[in-house]
Amino acid sequence: MMELRYNPLTDEWVIVSAATQKRPVQPSKTECPICVGGLELPEGYDLVTFENRYPSLRKDPPPVDWKEKGPFKKEESRGICEVVVYTSDHNTALPGMPLKQIEKLVEMWVDRTRDLSQNDFVKYIFIFENRGKEVGASLPHPHGQIYAFPFLPKRIEVKMDAMRKWYEKNRKCPICEILENEGEERKVYETENFIALVPFYARFPYEVHIYPKRHVSTLPEFSKKEKKEFAEVLKVVTAKYDKLFDQEFPYMMMFFQAPFNDEDVSHFFHFHVEFNPPKRDRDKLKWMASVETGTWTFINPVVPEEAAKQLRETEVEI
Ligand SMILES: [Zn+2]
Ligand SMILES: [Zn+2]
Repeated sequence: MMELRYNPLTDEWVIVSAATQKRPVQPSKTECPICVGGLELPEGYDLVTFENRYPSLRKDPPPVDWKEKGPFKKEESRGICEVVVYTSDHNTALPGMPLKQIEKLVEMWVDRTRDLSQNDFVKYIFIFENRGKEVGASLPHPHGQIYAFPFLPKRIEVKMDAMRKWYEKNRKCPICEILENEGEERKVYETENFIALVPFYARFPYEVHIYPKRHVSTLPEFSKKEKKEFAEVLKVVTAKYDKLFDQEFPYMMMFFQAPFNDEDVSHFFHFHVEFNPPKRDRDKLKWMASVETGTWTFINPVVPEEAAKQLRETEVEI
């Protein structure tokens, strides 16, 4: 079964997708389905995207037998779920990949965003990577995913409303204003066009955000130079994590761009990346437990300025 179900208590959609239960878990190297010659990718490749075999959303979803019964509403789970394989090298990850390869990856994210946004049912394009078993990554081969949603996911709606409110009051996008006021204390890394920092309002210990300095809302707006620098910042941030914690540090990497095929929010929606690592130390997990999950109030055990200092002072090679 796959369908969208509506929750009137929170005004949000839930994806019911029984198929994702069947996906493989941590196969060995010889069984890797996304290595060259594997089940998904029998031909050679450099980097590649393909539709997820176990999608939560599908371009041609099965029809739903009814749409509304009293308080219960459901919809077809129309959308697109893609896998993005970063490289054919099984034993690497963003921190170890050559910069050139990450630049190609950025180009691919831009292309996919452009392509997917051509579907008028696509309202939101969410690019992300779950790294490590701690966040449920089922394959060790370096890859990420893209979900093209037919609706605006709840947290995106919350972000949009907050940014809109700020803009209406201050006539400026909140991220542009943050950039004007940030100094050294929360900075992790900086290039001419980007800054990586532990935000003042970090929810997770060692949370890092990447903000382009120019006000852009979506990936396709990046200039050639910005795309190159974006690749560099992604490499540096992930390499700093690995070096500081002396391990393949798990994270959720999430790109937030403005919605597509919907109202124009580009004047207040500033593109940004969030890294949410699930660990608070080398071997201690920070759980999304009752308070965090139930109330969306996060208790961060690491002072953001302290986390920033540690990451800033961790030197890595590009
Ligand atoms: Zn592989
Ligand atoms: Zn801005």
